[in-house]
Amino acid sequence: MTQILDLHTHSKYSRACSKHLELPEIARTCETRGINIVSASDITHPRWFSHMKEWLIETKPGSGIYKIQETRYSHFNGHIPKTKFILGTEIACIKKHKDKTRRIHVLVFCPSLEVVEKLNTSLANDGFNLTADGRPILGMTVKTLLGYIKQIDERCHLIPAHAWTPWFGIFGSKGGYDSLEEAFDELAPEIFAIETGLSSDPLMNWHLSALDNITLISNSDAHSPAKLGREANIMQFASDDAITYDDIFDILKTQDKSRFLRTIEFYPEEGKYHMDGHRDCGISFHPDETSTHKGICPKCKKPLVIGVMNRVIELSDRTEEEAKEHGKLRIPYTSLVPLVEIIANTVQKGWATKTVQAIYNTMIAALGNEFHILMNVPLEDIEKVTTKHIATAIDRVRKGNIVIKPGYDGEFGVVKVFADDEDRGDVKQKALVGL
Ligand SMILES: [Zn+2]
Ligand SMILES: [Zn+2]
Repeated sequence: MTQILDLHTHSKYSRACSKHLELPEIARTCETRGINIVSASDITHPRWFSHMKEWLIETKPGSGIYKIQETRYSHFNGHIPKTKFILGTEIACIKKHKDKTRRIHVLVFCPSLEVVEKLNTSLANDGFNLTADGRPILGMTVKTLLGYIKQIDERCHLIPAHAWTPWFGIFGSKGGYDSLEEAFDELAPEIFAIETGLSSDPLMNWHLSALDNITLISNSDAHSPAKLGREANIMQFASDDAITYDDIFDILKTQDKSRFLRTIEFYPEEGKYHMDGHRDCGISFHPDETSTHKGICPKCKKPLVIGVMNRVIELSDRTEEEAKEHGKLRIPYTSLVPLVEIIANTVQKGWATKTVQAIYNTMIAALGNEFHILMNVPLEDIEKVTTKHIATAIDRVRKGNIVIKPGYDGEFGVVKVFADDEDRGDVKQKALVGL
């Protein structure tokens, strides 16, 4: 059976995150989105940990995978979401290392609530503040953290998060390293995967032969329920019973293409650190332009924030053609645009507006979950419940036939499914009938 996994999300206890990020809401939203397994997130936060113990129960003893407890039946009006949870969190490691202050975000996973408790107790006893933020800031290097969690339990794992982003990526232009070996020294072989982040896709990562043995994963890093699953991983399991924590990590370690089917990606240009630039100065540069300007902003004369594309080029040792050729051996990927953005672009209203949400809800009710709609539902069926133009928009996203103004310095890229002067039909046609 196919399962879609989102292994990096947050709870309401992480800074700048929605208060709606509680387990019941996450479970419900994942069903709408088509996510089967989601990170329980922020597992080191004491209040969130209590919330987890209150709501979650292991799918079967020792599986390391959790679900909403049956006793919570009444909360859901009779339908408990089937969403499964894996225990993971993001941690910010800040520490001077090898002559530079390193600010690196990593994902840490634990095989059971008992191990989470052991980790949390140990960190608290060692004086780390776990209450200030769901994504705790620890004054240690990523290498020290890796050793630390392995001492807690050998089955704990660490995966660098959004590996290329300038401020907090393991390869980021600001506080990052040039290789996993530089970051982890003799512990580098323990790193089997990195998260590519919204601003890079597998093709960009295939430009580095240093990452040939590293599995590339993609997750949403959602700060609100609406963003869950904007990137994800599709895996194959023999049966529901066969889904265990150890199995998932075995798939991640082996890059077995028969079990890790593909990742679902943002178009990397849509990510907010794809290009170089200065947000406040309105300057967005391709790496070539940055080098023409010697890395200096022509407006404020300060150094530009070097984005993901630039760092990939800097560390790469393959041409585009070579990277594509190498990619044939790797886990494939599908680039998508979130459904609300496609609708918003078609009807020319904001994604959070009532119009867009109404069309979205109509589609989910009639056609199934979002990933199913984006990847599988025939265009005729989409047109029947919405409009010809929304079906056309989804067709264009599936074919990659879209235009994106790339993101830079914290500013998200802008997707255009239709040209500015193109006809998009009348929103009020069918989509809103009866709403
Ligand atoms: Zn992060
Ligand atoms: Zn500037």
